[in-house]
Amino acid sequence: MLKCSACGSVKVTVLINGRPYCTYCGAKILRAHLIRTLLNMKREGLITSAVNVESHVDP
Ligand SMILES: [Zn+2]
Repeated sequence: MLKCSACGSVKVTVLINGRPYCTYCGAKILRAHLIRTLLNMKREGLITSAVNVESHVDP
């Protein structure tokens, strides 16, 4: 039986980088991953600075 790698829930719905996560933790991890990717792209000048990625970063 798979368990969420973050909270231990058995309601695993997604695999991220080969590790199982429940819907809640999976969404959190994907969101953090996406924001990090966008910040990197912005730093490399791949997306315009008009896009306010920073406002989506969790405090
Ligand atoms: Zn979880």
